[in-house]
Amino acid sequence: MCAKLEQNANESITCKFGGTSLADSKQIERVVGILNQDADRRFIVVSAPGKRTPSDKKITDLLYLCHQTAKEGLDVESVFSVIRQRYESIAAELNVDGVTGWLDTVEAEIKRGAGKDWAASRGEYLHARILANALDATFIDTAECVRFDSEGRLNPVSYDLILERVSNTGRYVFPGFYGTDARGQIRTFSRGGSDVTGAIVARAVRSRVYENWTDVDGLLMADPRIVDSPLPIREVTYSELRELAYMGASVLHDEAIFPVSEAQIPINIRNTNAPEQPGTWIAPTRENSELPIVGIAGRSHFSTIYVEKALMNQEKGFGRRLLEILENHHISYEHAPSSIDSMSVILSNEELGEREAMVRADIARVLQPDRVEVLPGLALIATVGQGMSHRVGVAKCLFSALSDSSVNVRMINQGASEINIIVGVADSDYEKAIRAIYSAFVV
Ligand code: ASP
Repeated sequence: MCAKLEQNANESITCKFGGTSLADSKQIERVVGILNQDADRRFIVVSAPGKRTPSDKKITDLLYLCHQTAKEGLDVESVFSVIRQRYESIAAELNVDGVTGWLDTVEAEIKRGAGKDWAASRGEYLHARILANALDATFIDTAECVRFDSEGRLNPVSYDLILERVSNTGRYVFPGFYGTDARGQIRTFSRGGSDVTGAIVARAVRSRVYENWTDVDGLLMADPRIVDSPLPIREVTYSELRELAYMGASVLHDEAIFPVSEAQIPINIRNTNAPEQPGTWIAPTRENSELPIVGIAGRSHFSTIYVEKALMNQEKGFGRRLLEILENHHISYEHAPSSIDSMSVILSNEELGEREAMVRADIARVLQPDRVEVLPGLALIATVGQGMSHRVGVAKCLFSALSDSSVNVRMINQGASEINIIVGVADSDYEKAIRAIYSAFVV
């Protein structure tokens, strides 16, 4: 163990490689090429091997399946043999020895009833060990340094534990996706969680950048399934990204921003298959604000709970009681626009689900409204960009575009931060609205 990381560690780069970037030995060779291009790329976080083709299986999915099979008392061997074959062929092509023994241990533990998280974590564990061997780098098991507290949150002691294990020279390979809980048991993050491990390592070793290598060139200004060839996003701030990601634009695990944003470390999303591309930079601030917006994202299938009551404005605590009913049913909501005698709560259809009748009954009983209705079929679209803050005419441009495309706006929300405008439109107008907004601002 060495506590020798000093000032110039700030020059280091933490690189996280996703499952498709490490799916087979050909991809791993690309990764090695990327690492060799810059000696600062010393801290490497890996995912388990992902899909090589669209119909292929992810190793993590197979491990979950093995665990389930063992739990049902069935034979694990046939599923595990697919995992075994995958790692053995990667290891053989990279000239790494010893993998059969590691696989034997994992298979035996799963058969013996190892926990679900333990089983899933072995995908990253095995891959990190193979890569560390192939790179002649130091393997650091995140079981020993990524810690969760009793609530399942990251324990900040993890940063010190990681820092204690690294020095100013050499390369280190960490398995992503897992750590240990307060009782010393292996716990995973939610799916895609190696992004979070990458951010934790970058923060711990104080890298100058967290490179997240994946299979796309970065974020796009809109969903390419809706807008034809949308422009790439070159720079986006942490908060703009949060808004876009929440509304469905995703390249990064939701929780990956926090460890690095607290330390103001930028994230650079890059494409392993096109390393010459600059990718997307996610940083505390951005220079390029020529366009007022940075991207458009949205989601459909929301409902509005509409509650009307004469003199609602005089009834203290009305809004609180309405939201409390939702809380009591463990339902989270998105927006709560109101007027003098009515209040609406917007929530996803999935959240409301089968609880609709009970929620309506509680609203009727507790609030005694004149009218309660649940109106389905709403889509929410966020137009995001710090460039719209204090800029006159952005809303005009957005609403003119919607009106020129005959899209009726059913809800409007702009927060005080002024980095987004959210509109609610009919589900059936969703794609048309996104195309209209994109053309108004970008083309
Ligand atoms: N292997 C895990 C998953 O498939 C974690 C990750 O790849 O980030 O979700």
